[in-house]
Amino acid sequence: MRGVTNGGKEMGGAQNPFLIAQQQVRNAVAALGESEELFELLKAPAHFIEVQIPVRMDDGSLRVFTGYRSQHLTTLGPAKGGIRFHPAVTADEVKALSMWMTFKTSVVGLPYGGGKGGVVVDPRKLSLGELERLSRGYVRAIWPYLGPDKDIPAPDVNTNAQIMGWMTDEYETIVGASCPAVFTGKPLSMGGSLGREEATGRGTVITIREALAYLGLPVAGARVAVQGFGNAGQHAARLLEELGAVLVAASDSRGGIVCPGGMRVADLIAYKQATGSVVGFPGSRATDQFGVLTADCDILVPAALENQIDAEVARSIRARVVAEAANGPTTPDGDHVLAQRKIFLIPDILANAGGVTVSYFEWVQNRNQYYWTAEEVNARLEQRMVASFRDVVAMAERHGAYTRTAAYMYAIHRIAESLRMRGLLR
Ligand code: GLU
Repeated sequence: MRGVTNGGKEMGGAQNPFLIAQQQVRNAVAALGESEELFELLKAPAHFIEVQIPVRMDDGSLRVFTGYRSQHLTTLGPAKGGIRFHPAVTADEVKALSMWMTFKTSVVGLPYGGGKGGVVVDPRKLSLGELERLSRGYVRAIWPYLGPDKDIPAPDVNTNAQIMGWMTDEYETIVGASCPAVFTGKPLSMGGSLGREEATGRGTVITIREALAYLGLPVAGARVAVQGFGNAGQHAARLLEELGAVLVAASDSRGGIVCPGGMRVADLIAYKQATGSVVGFPGSRATDQFGVLTADCDILVPAALENQIDAEVARSIRARVVAEAANGPTTPDGDHVLAQRKIFLIPDILANAGGVTVSYFEWVQNRNQYYWTAEEVNARLEQRMVASFRDVVAMAERHGAYTRTAAYMYAIHRIAESLRMRGLLR
């Protein structure tokens, strides 16, 4: 068993995201002068489901996968959050991710509590048919806990619109009714929303643009490093390029590259599509994750997994702005160093809230059976992200707080109000 020491730090240097999330809540509750009761109400998921998912593999053998669904808070509305397929998924990781969803949806003012799901699997090792059977099996295992008024999953790491399509189809087959609002991030032909695919990256870029304006720095010519060239990272890089910024470093699970002269994002996306990785992109130099995180740049976008920026990495970061497109990429020790070094942090619950915001728009459209144009979706996203950015910065200024603490304070303040009105908190 791994022993826990403090602040989410475990022996061996690994960080437990659930303990980190609890510490973040504790800090914000204290900074708000709220009572221990609020921490007690928020410190763990309301419901946590663990399931075993049997899947018949192509070779005829049977494999049983472990899956989770965590519903952190159910008093603010249905639980909402993605499902990730990853070999390193753990119960504590899923719990932490569901807590972060609660605070994320609160920062952008959505009528949801936090949810998150995960399956312990390396999807790259599955055939398309096996992936479909696993996706459908996950829904067969947890469907009684899902629903447009209960819990609404969406894509996350290694899941996508196709997987949401299979899951929605399985759910509708089980309940015997059309029910597009039970999943978001669906294919357009199944009731998905225009703009959802790129929404996380678009939201991140809106917050970066606002941060640069706040700091009096230009976007044009700004050099960008993106750790994790997946959905969020690719769209963030592409949209930053449209604003005149230059991509100088990128990585994915296979390695990293730097190119001080800049790379054309469309070319890098095409290269990754063709080869499966950014590694080996013509004109670039190979590096590792550390090399990308500490590349010579103005804007760093961690868009991969948790626990990437610890104190050591934070000490070597050269960017002026860090925008967390990933969930939980910075450890508490890393936070201390970023704050000390006055690196402007756009915390995950704000920086990557564009995805769930457009998921909310998708859910609204599904429930109304009335669909919006891409312009309408993007305009509403823009408005919410800008307003939330300003609310968080105002909180940070008012309390002299680090932006992560300010975002939590803002989110938790809203949650406390509603818990009080329900009579759950004094
Ligand atoms: N998985 C995304 C996130 O972490 C999106 C969740 C959603 O759209 O519900 O925010």
